[in-house]
Amino acid sequence: MRDDINARVRALSHALLGEETSADVRDVIIVGSGPAGYTAAIYTARSLLKPLVIAGSVEAGGELMKTTEVENFPGFPEGIMGPELMGRLQEQAEKFGAEVLHEDATAVELEGEIKKVVLMDGTIHRARTVILATGSAYRELGLDSEARLSGHGVSWCATCDGFFFREQEIAVVGGGDSAMEEALFLTKFASKVTVIHRRDSLRASKIMADRALAHPKIEFVWNSEVADVLGEDKVTGVRLRNLNTGEESELAVTGVFVAIGNDPRVALVKDQVQITDAGTIAVDGRSSRTSVDGVFAAGDVLDPTYRQAITAAGSGCVAGQDVWFYLSARTLAESAAVV
Ligand code: NAP
Repeated sequence: MRDDINARVRALSHALLGEETSADVRDVIIVGSGPAGYTAAIYTARSLLKPLVIAGSVEAGGELMKTTEVENFPGFPEGIMGPELMGRLQEQAEKFGAEVLHEDATAVELEGEIKKVVLMDGTIHRARTVILATGSAYRELGLDSEARLSGHGVSWCATCDGFFFREQEIAVVGGGDSAMEEALFLTKFASKVTVIHRRDSLRASKIMADRALAHPKIEFVWNSEVADVLGEDKVTGVRLRNLNTGEESELAVTGVFVAIGNDPRVALVKDQVQITDAGTIAVDGRSSRTSVDGVFAAGDVLDPTYRQAITAAGSGCVAGQDVWFYLSARTLAESAAVV
């Protein structure tokens, strides 16, 4: 039934808009390929909208590609590895007709009837709607030494780099679920993991916090920040500052894993869509509609609060449906105007 309506909508829209809906103008382009992007792709593909997913060249699959076991995604009581989950979501989207490009979008033009998405190599893709599902990027401490020693002992990804720290003493910065997950994972390799947190209690969920607090290889330094990362060519330690007393001390470590949260990835679009005070893309109520007609957002890029794989997937579903509603309503309105 839905497919019939869809076919009628597409035929009408092509007849009405002529050139503008020629083969090279798609119905929808999805920028981003985390759980939000791929779920939006599944929904729009199943509406026969043939979505193009700009998945990213290096970061395809989003944050879950850097995660170990995902224990809280419904339907996987035994848990599932983050990269496997993302692989399955991509497979599901492609099965219904989504086209996935492992390229980076470098610019977008969102105003107007036909939107443009420009790729790194200069290729321009055009579509009547765009779903922004660019997720979030790792937050940095903002230290010069952190930037200088990035890749030389400073890392944001335990699953990528943990292997290099066998039998070494390392530090994890942060007090949330990410920090606990990183710390627990790193105990497989490191001889000791010190979690450095700026407060005296953890933000992490109780189950993760309890696991980390009980782990014999994990120690905690409370009420402290990293004032500097030490080392010339590679990390040799961190200088800590106690935030209650101002007292400074040094901790000898060979690795520093920064796990202090993420910031929404809005650089590509921040001058074209409305952004909230929290730095996320503003949407209309519970919908995915942004301030620009025909442009929708999904996942962490609009979510300052929940930021879970499952909420991102739910948000992708909303965006996929909103695109369908938008295209259907416009096409029917245009057809009524002609009649
Ligand atoms: P988060 O919950 O925002 O926690 C960030 C942590 O870093 C907080 O403890 C924060 O301290 C600290 N922090 C922030 N900026 C800092 C700075 N400049 N210097 C030092 N410390 C800083 O971020 P997250 O841990 O990445 O988690 C994000 C979301 O993903 C959460 O909803 C989380 O539940 C979810 N997640 C879930 C799992 C899981 O279920 N297995 C795993 C990973 C992430 P304060 O506490 O003082 O603010």
